[in-house]
Amino acid sequence: MPYESRIPKNPNFDDLVSQLKKYCSPTDIDLARLVYDFAEKAHQGQYRKSGGLYITHPIATAQLLANMKIDINIIAAALLHDVPEDTNVTLEEIEKNFGQDIATMIKGITKLGKLKYRGVERYIENLRKMFVAMAEDIRVMIIKFADRVHNLSTIEALPIKKRFRIALESLEIYAPIANRLGMGEFKSLLEDLSFPYVNPKEYEKVRQTRKSLLSEREIYLKKIMKVISDELTDTGIKLISVHGREKSLYSFYQKILRKGWENIDKIYDIVAIRIIVNDMGDCYASLGIIHKLWRPLTGRIKDYISQPKPNGYKSIHTTVFCVEGKIVEFQIRDQKMHEEAEYGIAAHWHYDEKGSRLPAKDIMWAKELADIQKNIVEKLSDMDELKVDFFKNRIFVFTPQGDVIDLPEDATPIDFAYHIHTDIGNRCNGAKVNDQLISLDTPLKSGDVVDIIVDKNRKGPSQDWIKSAKTHLAKSRIKTSLKNEKSSWLKIILPKK
Ligand code: MN
Repeated sequence: MPYESRIPKNPNFDDLVSQLKKYCSPTDIDLARLVYDFAEKAHQGQYRKSGGLYITHPIATAQLLANMKIDINIIAAALLHDVPEDTNVTLEEIEKNFGQDIATMIKGITKLGKLKYRGVERYIENLRKMFVAMAEDIRVMIIKFADRVHNLSTIEALPIKKRFRIALESLEIYAPIANRLGMGEFKSLLEDLSFPYVNPKEYEKVRQTRKSLLSEREIYLKKIMKVISDELTDTGIKLISVHGREKSLYSFYQKILRKGWENIDKIYDIVAIRIIVNDMGDCYASLGIIHKLWRPLTGRIKDYISQPKPNGYKSIHTTVFCVEGKIVEFQIRDQKMHEEAEYGIAAHWHYDEKGSRLPAKDIMWAKELADIQKNIVEKLSDMDELKVDFFKNRIFVFTPQGDVIDLPEDATPIDFAYHIHTDIGNRCNGAKVNDQLISLDTPLKSGDVVDIIVDKNRKGPSQDWIKSAKTHLAKSRIKTSLKNEKSSWLKIILPKK
């Protein structure tokens, strides 16, 4: 199976080091060693349910990420990700040893905790935490994906019921998030590893079908790859690679569900030929050459370079009547587009870029997040046939320092102020949203940066704020403050006993 090769079979630190050597400096590797020794000591004497030392799990998590040539701090956090939760070593010790950046990521992971299913309400509450952690630092989610992928690959050791729940959650929640973050590789891994535990019968059927279709096409496609490589090279196009891209099991299954089992011979992209060239110009040049050789099917040319998919995916796809009239799909992209398509948002932490918390330009991302969340809740309500209101319409807004506050839809600056602190609420005298002064009853939107203007001399809230507040918390604090105000006034006129 295609994904198996990407999961370390026998996770060990030496292999991780050889992966890191491909892109890290000696200083980075020294750091990895220190972190590893620390984590190994912390987990000493702990074992996995699937057998083997516990430390193999954080190593495997780090190895999955090192495949993407990701920033060393993320690798370090991956190695340490279960330490505060599962050992006696504290987050403070981690911070003292390895600094704030790594500690912050681990804090995020620990905050998420292990999503345990104990009734829908608590589950949703946990999910909500996940979105907040994600908005605070998206690197937390990247580590979480790798963590989950490795856990799925050893899920056999768990009881059946638990297996099903974890697999379903990965399929319905984690994979769609990975997809929205443009992380194609993790999305496929999460789906293909979960599929057999969620729907074993369909899985088996799809696997067999796919296998026989693939072997049918193998020799033919090899021939085509040779033809197109020669042709492109002759025209002076610098080829980086030409290879077959097999559709993942689960996305093949999704396509069958859309088209129907009877139309399986009309699924042309079970294997596509992927062409990776040097730059964008060569992408279009290659498209021209393919169309000169073979006639394209109408309506099947998709230029995701000039019009990328919402998750940022870039490529050109075209489907042609190829040699012997057989139908073949080609996907053309340059190296940068390729990495972005595989790693998505994680590509931002490729090599050296420092992933400080939520860069200003990514504040747009909060809007996306609210969207994803809505999607997932729709799915969840299908799953559990439950309407879960309090999770349903949440927005994510930011303090000027970049902290995330999650509020219900239509929440106002008053809600925001009380969520930060009762005193901020009581002394609130105005608000700026994205540097613009706005009135206190204006509904906030995801991604807004909210700055509360405080008047130290203000005595307390005004009566009409109760109408503007949307959260229970703000309303009750306003009421309490108003009552206190009255009672302190009463105290003056009523003689003490
Ligand atoms: Mn873990």
